[in-house]
Amino acid sequence: MDRNKLKFFKKLLEDEKDKISSRIKFINENGLAMSMKESTGELSMYDNNSGDLGSELFERSKDFALREDAVLVIKAIDGALAKIKDGTYGKCDVCGKVIPLERLEAMPYTTVCFDCRVVVEQAPNPSVRPVEEDVIDDIYRQGHRKDIESAGYSMEDTWKDLSRY
Ligand SMILES: [Zn+2]
Repeated sequence: MDRNKLKFFKKLLEDEKDKISSRIKFINENGLAMSMKESTGELSMYDNNSGDLGSELFERSKDFALREDAVLVIKAIDGALAKIKDGTYGKCDVCGKVIPLERLEAMPYTTVCFDCRVVVEQAPNPSVRPVEEDVIDDIYRQGHRKDIESAGYSMEDTWKDLSRY
């Protein structure tokens, strides 16, 4: 990879790292799901039972998942920055082939090519799963579930949901 491209990706990675670091800081300082409520504006249906232990636990666990995911991304970014330094950036960790630029542009901290990513994701390693998107997606879907609106969110449901993460 030529110098200019490396420079470009280095900047991209550093910017992303800054962004995620401040997100972790925000979660640490504000706790619970406040950060998500504020950032998505989609969680007002939880306001009704904010005093409920079940939903509090539920939201707290989502925050932990988000933070954990963010920490993993930071690690991945650090790894990619180290690769830029030692000149191996853009090569697949598994097969050694050059990772296509489009893939790096979409996910600059990736260290595997698309083919190997498929193989890695089949392995039982939760760190390669885009946890955050799953969680947000889930909340979205659950927001439209009738039973939440009418019967409230029971402890049992919470545990069912928790066990999936
Ligand atoms: Zn590969």
